[in-house]
Amino acid sequence: MNRIVTLSLLMFCLLSVQCSAEKGQNDSNKPLENDTLVTETTIEPQIPAGAKTLLKAYPDFIKGYEEDSLLLADGTRMVYDDGREKSFEQKLDDADPEDMFAFVYDQSAEEPDYLQDAGRSRCEALFKMMYGNSEGAVRQKLISVEWFGERVLFTPVNGAADSLRAVAADIASHPDFAKLRPYLKSSGSFYWRKVRGANRQSAHSYGMTIDVGVALSDYWLWKNPGKKETDKIVYANRMPKTLVEIFERHGFIWGGRWYHYDTMHFEFRPEILLYSTSAF
Ligand SMILES: [Zn+2]
Repeated sequence: MNRIVTLSLLMFCLLSVQCSAEKGQNDSNKPLENDTLVTETTIEPQIPAGAKTLLKAYPDFIKGYEEDSLLLADGTRMVYDDGREKSFEQKLDDADPEDMFAFVYDQSAEEPDYLQDAGRSRCEALFKMMYGNSEGAVRQKLISVEWFGERVLFTPVNGAADSLRAVAADIASHPDFAKLRPYLKSSGSFYWRKVRGANRQSAHSYGMTIDVGVALSDYWLWKNPGKKETDKIVYANRMPKTLVEIFERHGFIWGGRWYHYDTMHFEFRPEILLYSTSAF
């Protein structure tokens, strides 16, 4: 018995020495900035990956995570995971923050997999808290952004308007600009409304979403009339990959990556891109 205890102690000491050595090596090779250190110690180690992503994506509003809740900037808490098993429709209609990460956003796939709608699930309380909880509250924050000869209303909250400007600058300086030009006409940004046929708020309500190139776009119900949300459907898309990649690089997800596709739709959702890839 004593030998086992002694052996265990020896193992523990060896491991400790090894860990310290590795730590020392990391410290000398990769000095961490103070900010990083604070963040890492605040959010490690028990935080779900989705919550961690929300902290990174929305630092002005989400300040921490404690006892299964997001700690918000106004001092209140928001339950991260309500623990309920949900159907596909419920994940869209009644999403908690955790449900927003239930689907895969696959930037390498040619077509989205069955029922993978990453980003269509939005925790309404979270988005209303950030962007405004009524048409008037959202509208009073909106600013006008120059968009290829048009002006579109967009929210500066979370850096969304700056990101849209960065998208426009990248498109304008792209060698394929002439080819992209026909896809750029805006067909709507801010519009406080419910999603067609559902009782949830459209992403356009929050002023961080733009539709472009409607005449060259595809929508799942246009191509598959009469189909229900859980039916198998046919995919279609004419939007150029270059355009999609530029939007994604600046934190916008694309509706063409949804099983229930909407290829004119670009929505500022840095948490979905952060979650699915380290490229953003
Ligand atoms: Zn849209």
